[in-house]
Amino acid sequence: MNKYDVIIVGGGASGVTCAINLKKKDPSLKVLLLEQNDKVLKKVLKTGNGKCNLSNKNIDGSHYHNYDAFKDYFNKFDAGKYFLDLGLITKSDNQGRIYPYSEASSSVVNLLLYELEKEKIEIKCNYIVEKVERNDNYIINGEYSSKVLVIATGSNAQAKTNGYELAKSLNHKITKLVPVLTPIKIKEDIKSLAGLKVKCNLKVNSFNRCGELLFKDDAISGILVLEASRYTKTGDVISLDLVPDYSLSELKEYLIDDKEIKLNGLVPKMLVKKINGDIGKLKDFRLTVDSLYGFSYSQITRGGVTVDELKETFESKINSNLYLIGEVVDVDGDCGGYNLNFAWLSGYFAAENIIKSI
Ligand SMILES: Cc1cc2nc3c(=O)[nH]c(=O)nc-3n(C[C@H](O)[C@H](O)[C@H](O)COP(=O)(O)OP(=O)(O)OC[C@H]3O[C@@H](n4cnc5c(N)ncnc54)[C@H](O)[C@@H]3O)c2cc1C
Repeated sequence: MNKYDVIIVGGGASGVTCAINLKKKDPSLKVLLLEQNDKVLKKVLKTGNGKCNLSNKNIDGSHYHNYDAFKDYFNKFDAGKYFLDLGLITKSDNQGRIYPYSEASSSVVNLLLYELEKEKIEIKCNYIVEKVERNDNYIINGEYSSKVLVIATGSNAQAKTNGYELAKSLNHKITKLVPVLTPIKIKEDIKSLAGLKVKCNLKVNSFNRCGELLFKDDAISGILVLEASRYTKTGDVISLDLVPDYSLSELKEYLIDDKEIKLNGLVPKMLVKKINGDIGKLKDFRLTVDSLYGFSYSQITRGGVTVDELKETFESKINSNLYLIGEVVDVDGDCGGYNLNFAWLSGYFAAENIIKSI
């Protein structure tokens, strides 16, 4: 059986960062990275519409579910600096979203591939980890053994993983898995609005933000909606303010005469038709949530390995020398670079903690 110091399951954002940092800090470590796909970092290539929104300047607890479990690390990690030190210049937009300067996700992937090669990290692709056993070490598929095991298997959002089952087989609890950052299917008939993009304010439960929304045949989409999907469930009523710059009384006064022609200057024609002369609907256009689009459309998964069973170091409280990082853990964030930020930081700090412990 081939023996390693550390085996990492999953060659995505968190697993690759962990592998690189391990070898940078201690080149003598024998590290193996196992990936089920034919290449590592396939999902990262798809991120940010091919631009890779790798972090955000406004990292704080308001953008995350379960931020407090790893609060110190969120505060300490600066993704822009991390990537600059590796050799990647970044830039940010007016919403604090950080991208590679090239606005190409391939720049991030190529940089990390270069680091993997430079640090001589052993990688085995097309390799699915199906079984993990434990004696003094971790035994993977009866074939590899390691003192430390890192599970970095990501989620089922536009991908497939058995990572949750692997964690369960090691006695970890998995909280309910829900696709989030996904379009929201609507109960009402909105076909006549399909293709329409509007700037509006969207309110549902505690979510209340302005942004761009796209109507589809049976759903609403766009970054604003993806963000709102983290706060919604079936049956919730969404309220859209289609003219957020004016109050209802201002609108009523303005539209007191020549209503039809003035309405055309306020909102697109398709909406004028839809509100059917009801000015109130401009400020409170209601849509009922039918459901969220599934994992094949979602960017991330809410739920995963419960944070109560993890130490702040990302080590399992149940199995010593087992670390769980990235999206397989029940931490999720808003659209805008927050999820990749958690993937990088959990990989980076897990590596530091592994080195301290062995
Ligand atoms: C279309 C899309 C766009 C996105 N855009 C952004 C964005 O712009 N900004 C942002 O912050 N977030 C974005 N995200 C979310 C972000 O990509 C993820 O949160 C992040 O990649 C999670 O990192 P990870 O390491 O946990 O998982 P991943 O990067 O998914 O890596 C997990 C890896 O483990 C492998 N694996 C799983 N199970 C096994 C197994 N049993 N054996 C071997 N290998 C296994 C998988 O094949 C995969 O390569 C986007 C997601 C999608 C789907």
